[in-house]
Amino acid sequence: MTELTSTTPPAPVTAYVQVALNLPLRREFTYALPTGIDAKPGNRVRVNFHGRALGGIVTAVSDTTDLPLAKVKSIESVLDDEVTIPPSLLELARAMAATYGCSLGEALDAMLPSVAKRRGQRRLPHLELKAPRDLALAAVVELEEKHQAQSRVLRTVLEFGGPMPLFDVRRRTNTSDSPWQTLCKHGLLRKVMLAEALEELVPAADEAAFRHDLNEHQQRAVDNVVGKVRVREPRTFLLHGVTGSGKTEVYLRILEEVRALGRSAIVLVPEISLTPQTVGRFASRFPDVAVLHSGLTDAERGRQWQRLLQGKAKIAVGARSALFAPVQDLGLIVVDEEHETSFKQDSTPRYHAREMAIVRGQIEKAVVVLGSATPTLESIGKARRGIYELLTLPERAGAGRLPKIVVQDLRGEPKELRRAGVVLSRTLLVMMEERLKSKDQVLLFLNRRGYSPVLLCPGCGEAIKCDACSVSMTWHARVGRLVCHWCSHEKRRPEMCPTCQHAGMHELGIGTERLEAAVKQRFPQAIVARMDADTMAERGAHERVLSAFRKKHIDVLIGTQMIAKGLDFPDVTLVGVVSADTGLFVPDYRAAERTFQLLHQVAGRAGRGEKAGTVVIQTFCPDNYAVEAAAKNDYDSFVQQELVFRKITGYPPFSRLLRVLAEARNEQEAQQLLQKAVAPLRGLADIEVLGPAPAVIAKVKEQWRWHMLVKCFQPSSFAAAMAAVGTVEDLATRTCRITLDVDPSSLM
Ligand code: ADP
Ligand code: ZN
Repeated sequence: MTELTSTTPPAPVTAYVQVALNLPLRREFTYALPTGIDAKPGNRVRVNFHGRALGGIVTAVSDTTDLPLAKVKSIESVLDDEVTIPPSLLELARAMAATYGCSLGEALDAMLPSVAKRRGQRRLPHLELKAPRDLALAAVVELEEKHQAQSRVLRTVLEFGGPMPLFDVRRRTNTSDSPWQTLCKHGLLRKVMLAEALEELVPAADEAAFRHDLNEHQQRAVDNVVGKVRVREPRTFLLHGVTGSGKTEVYLRILEEVRALGRSAIVLVPEISLTPQTVGRFASRFPDVAVLHSGLTDAERGRQWQRLLQGKAKIAVGARSALFAPVQDLGLIVVDEEHETSFKQDSTPRYHAREMAIVRGQIEKAVVVLGSATPTLESIGKARRGIYELLTLPERAGAGRLPKIVVQDLRGEPKELRRAGVVLSRTLLVMMEERLKSKDQVLLFLNRRGYSPVLLCPGCGEAIKCDACSVSMTWHARVGRLVCHWCSHEKRRPEMCPTCQHAGMHELGIGTERLEAAVKQRFPQAIVARMDADTMAERGAHERVLSAFRKKHIDVLIGTQMIAKGLDFPDVTLVGVVSADTGLFVPDYRAAERTFQLLHQVAGRAGRGEKAGTVVIQTFCPDNYAVEAAAKNDYDSFVQQELVFRKITGYPPFSRLLRVLAEARNEQEAQQLLQKAVAPLRGLADIEVLGPAPAVIAKVKEQWRWHMLVKCFQPSSFAAAMAAVGTVEDLATRTCRITLDVDPSSLM
């Protein structure tokens, strides 16, 4: 350890500060404040930590310290206080750290706009093509055999069609620095420093939300919420409104009242719904909306943070992290589509924005409104027990009617079709034909990208697996490669089975790419577009497709869950769910709930205008209760049956889950580490431990994965379990990574 202060004469000290650092160390560190430097809780400071310069947040200031003075270093500087953490957010960060078992510094780091972290850095490294295009194309092919990471990087930059931020290249290709560096060395790419492209989410001009007269259900909801905002009672409401029931209009009216009271509000929407359409609905009514989304540049994010901090903007609209918007005098937090899993962050700190919204509401005496057509069992459970107040919108507002739903039993399809992997049933085909004739639009939903999820050898029955992960690779026909959806590793398609040398592999199952091909073949005259992570890689692609669909330049839109939510297109009169079963058999207690939610949301895209809508749900399991309930638009009956299942199995809402995941190159190490971690849990009351056992995906990127799941049946036993498990800092070793996940959204 380097003792910097021992070599520099100590400057006069006026006070001591506690500093939270973004490290997995669950304590704060004491530094001295030299005379002439002033710092308050919430300020960002730069300190020397074991020889490293780190940014941190001041959490407390005091006149004295118990530490030996020779040991206490001075802070190096206070960073410009453009961005400070207000006291209420400091308190929220403490709650977050306590709930999710992370350090205060990690919790605070999640709150800051990244401009604060990467101060002054306005120019970012980009990669662009240096070699001529045809040369680069040839290199993609040449490199793919022996240097596939390089090939992937080069192809990604080529497809992006311009200087691509290095950060995005690495994230998309899941590669380290060495592939792009080698490509630069060989003169194929070059690194350029460019100002960040400013990509503002411009509200769609044609999205002015018409100010409807409220219907009686909407009015009742608005009155109830506004009543609590007025008296500053931090109540949580669950707004359960069927798809198209006008929840947005309810939010807008409440926002009007909040603003009339001079207070501020935060509106959280799933990242996927953060479109110009959504933003336009809010921005057209209010002049002072700050939009926070992941596409913002650092500079822009910092500017929005400033506007909010100074009270120039009073409404923050954004995805998960907009919850931390530093608004003044918070009156309301809306969490729209509260059932969406994207509100849970899947990296440290693994917080759930819905749960933290409620905590923030308590801290700042603000009302929280959770809205959904398919509330989670946790939320509806709390509403029924009176912890939340339930508001319902049972009917579609305006002209729309809930669609007619047809369940198409795929077991009845002709054998030869089934063997080919049924893509489109006769029923769906006939209906599509009708819609195309009458110039209506069709949405086809399939929650699986690629051409086929498995490439199977008909000789020995082996599927092609990823070398680094224990999953089969998905065949992507357009790029002509097998892709691992867990680590992005790619392979060329083998001519014959690598195990038994049988010639010819069988494409098993269907993905969106195969569906697109099938539709184009069946309806050559139709204009077909596909929306999934593969086709949406290019900048602005999402907006382009949606805008073309709105203008009716597209007849059939095929997509993954990207098209399942929020789209409001009046001429969509047919929605086809190509396979309702894709998520039904995943080993997760929420499989049925997720299936129901998805089916219900997708179905909700039909019949939103004056014309009646039809939904065709294709399934091999028409008797499954999730499918049946979705087909009948019957949320209550689904909840009733699902609650029985949860009660018997002891899953949420009848327990709170804590998942501990260990990952190591050596499988035994992961296993042994968990066996040690489970010991203190034995004998605790009101808990049940599943495992330790290998995770469903037993290996990812050469790391073997073991996990255990702790069901805690009481708040007290949850606290006890958290304490018994201890911290990541205690558990992890240099060679074994540990993840603590409270209320996990994935059990894979
Ligand atoms: P949800 O979010 O509940 O799915 P939206 O807020 O998108 O529903 O509203 C669905 C449609 O109903 C929108 O086109 C909206 O303009 C319209 N709408 C909302 N409230 C009313 C109302 N009171 N009368 C008529 N139309 C309404
Ligand atoms: Zn892999």
